[in-house]
Amino acid sequence: MPSPTSIPNIQMVDLKSQYRAMQEEIDSAVIEVIRSGAFINGPEVKKFKAGLADFLGAKHVIPCANGTDALQIALMALGLEPGDEVIVPAFTYVASAEVIALLNLNPVMVDVDPDTFNVTAELIEPAISERTKAIIPVHLFGQSCDMEPIIALAKKHGLHIVEDNAQSIGAVYTFSDGRQIRTGALGDVGCTSFYPSKNLGAYGDGGAINANDDQLAETLQVVANHGQTRRYYHDLVGCNSRLDSIQAAILNLKLARLDEYNQRRNEAAEYYDRALAGIEGLQTPQRQPNSTHVFHQYTMRVSGGRRDALQEYLKGKGIPSMIYYPVALYDQKAFKGTAANDIDFLPVTDALCKEVISLPMHSELDAETLGYICKEVKAFF
Ligand SMILES: *Cc1c(COP(=O)(O)O)cnc(C)c1O
Repeated sequence: MPSPTSIPNIQMVDLKSQYRAMQEEIDSAVIEVIRSGAFINGPEVKKFKAGLADFLGAKHVIPCANGTDALQIALMALGLEPGDEVIVPAFTYVASAEVIALLNLNPVMVDVDPDTFNVTAELIEPAISERTKAIIPVHLFGQSCDMEPIIALAKKHGLHIVEDNAQSIGAVYTFSDGRQIRTGALGDVGCTSFYPSKNLGAYGDGGAINANDDQLAETLQVVANHGQTRRYYHDLVGCNSRLDSIQAAILNLKLARLDEYNQRRNEAAEYYDRALAGIEGLQTPQRQPNSTHVFHQYTMRVSGGRRDALQEYLKGKGIPSMIYYPVALYDQKAFKGTAANDIDFLPVTDALCKEVISLPMHSELDAETLGYICKEVKAFF
């Protein structure tokens, strides 16, 4: 067996170390739920609803089973009709667009900014048609889209905003008047995911929807619970999407540490930024003006067609990396020819799919590991 120092054990996401740091609390919270028997909608779920609402600065939070359900429930609650168009970036995780197609709505795919990887009002506006009803800005990799102009655009055209906040929980957006609002609480509905590797990760699946409007929140709640208004009275066709009490108990403990986790991710990102600055052919992540970054991913661009070679090289050195995302949504088999705006090529999305690479990023990265990763990235170039 190789000695532990010759092949470092570096993880893309290190959930075990994070657990070890709070093992006793987590174990006793989980056992407490099991002993109580309140597996569904128990006190831990109610506590989480209130805690997350407070954290986000949102009036209502509806926990649900996962982030994809959150997006689906949001679109179901907006009363859209088959054929209505929903604008979504072509460079994102599939879930953002999948739910649109699933509900027989039409995804309209738009390009993203080459530096921040986020959609902008300028890119969205030309895609708006008479049938456009909603925009799904995805706060990709940990920072907010530039929301002030997007909100103004949505207002002008009477469009709903459903934020995909699965990767950016905790990020703060600052308006030109100085108001600061967390991502997810900027649009009509915010959707997030507690998939284990997300910044606020459960030990299984989980998600949440948030809204400020009382009526909309009521509809979201009804949709998420079989369209039920009173027990056994179903006014809408809904779905069954819940966060279970065990996951809520874990999330309550981790929510209290979320800002600290995000701070540690920022420290790791700053280390990478410093160590990897000024390398020809490598662009470290650019910051979105007006937003903090919570570094769900540390995603760089490699030019000159060398991205895959860098990944291979790092693999040989025991350094994991990931390509988020290798294929544009319009090039996915499932979506070929479905984009309502007939898109089959967007220049920035196309370039990003070939150039992006994400380095290990989590709250437990130490200087030694970061130093080793950076040394090898530099050695490649
Ligand atoms: C993770 C993720 C989702 C979906 O979340 P799940 O909980 O896995 O369903 C949606 N959108 C984005 C951008 C994501 O990263």
